[in-house]
Amino acid sequence: MKCTRCKALACVALPSHHSGFCKDCYPLFFTKQVETAIRREKMFTRDERILVALSGGKDSLALMFELNLQGYDVTGLHIDLGIPNSSEKARKKVEDFCDLHGLNLEVFEMEKWGLPIPDVKAHVNRPVCAVCGKMKRHHFNRIAREGGYDALATGHNLDDEVARLFANTLRWDTAYLSDQGPVLPASEGFVRKVKPLFRLSEFETANYAFLKGIEIHSDPCPYASGASFTHHKELWGELEHRSPGQKFQFYQGFLKKGKPAFAGLEEEIGAELAPCSECGSPTSAEICSVCRIKKAVAESKAKAAA
Ligand code: SF4
Ligand code: ZN
Repeated sequence: MKCTRCKALACVALPSHHSGFCKDCYPLFFTKQVETAIRREKMFTRDERILVALSGGKDSLALMFELNLQGYDVTGLHIDLGIPNSSEKARKKVEDFCDLHGLNLEVFEMEKWGLPIPDVKAHVNRPVCAVCGKMKRHHFNRIAREGGYDALATGHNLDDEVARLFANTLRWDTAYLSDQGPVLPASEGFVRKVKPLFRLSEFETANYAFLKGIEIHSDPCPYASGASFTHHKELWGELEHRSPGQKFQFYQGFLKKGKPAFAGLEEEIGAELAPCSECGSPTSAEICSVCRIKKAVAESKAKAAA
């Protein structure tokens, strides 16, 4: 196959775009998709400060690399979860990446904050990933809000978005369907959330990271259950294989036709919000659920030690 742009030998075939690219032209395709996402969805401008959530995986590092290349004012945020034999490796990848490219980085340590994820696993009677995800979202938003950032960018790609949309649709979860999308506008206590990679698949992002020589953290988390959307992603992989372009059509169709039909139903998610008396994050109770979990774990540890 020849490169659609320069006619050299292509190294990446993209059936969903009826095209293929060589190693020099592929990054231009990637850049264009990110530019289009930011422009069409009005995600942010070059005058705004963007906090980028960096896990150390291909998506978040590729996103940071690309936004910096495009001249945006970006700072990385890594959350060190404190998981033995895992978190230190992810953190090292992120720190090395930011050092190499001269990028600003903030690191937040769950251990220092008082609740490393192993303590959640040992003391909270809920699936560890559900609580870990909640903690990460909480701190991303809190740190972005306290740091006065204009937006929080995450590396969610098209596969992530389609898998989540599919899961929400299977449950007809109207409240979540009403606010799923590449941009979640700022509201009281919440910063704007954006997903500039939503037009690109996991495969496309992985290719970009590889061609740019980005060293990524790819070891699975030792606590991963494997359940999180994996099955739905496999199903969509099969559909996409049979009919290239299906994933993007499904997601775009939702944004244009489905999402407006659910508008206004987000109120179902929560009641009136006020700042948490402990951490200032928006909550419908006096103390937010994350601070409540932290307190409960501290009590459980104290009891176990007594
Ligand atoms: Fe957290 Fe679960 Fe992800 Fe591990 S797999 S980082 S515990 S959400
Ligand atoms: Zn709180």
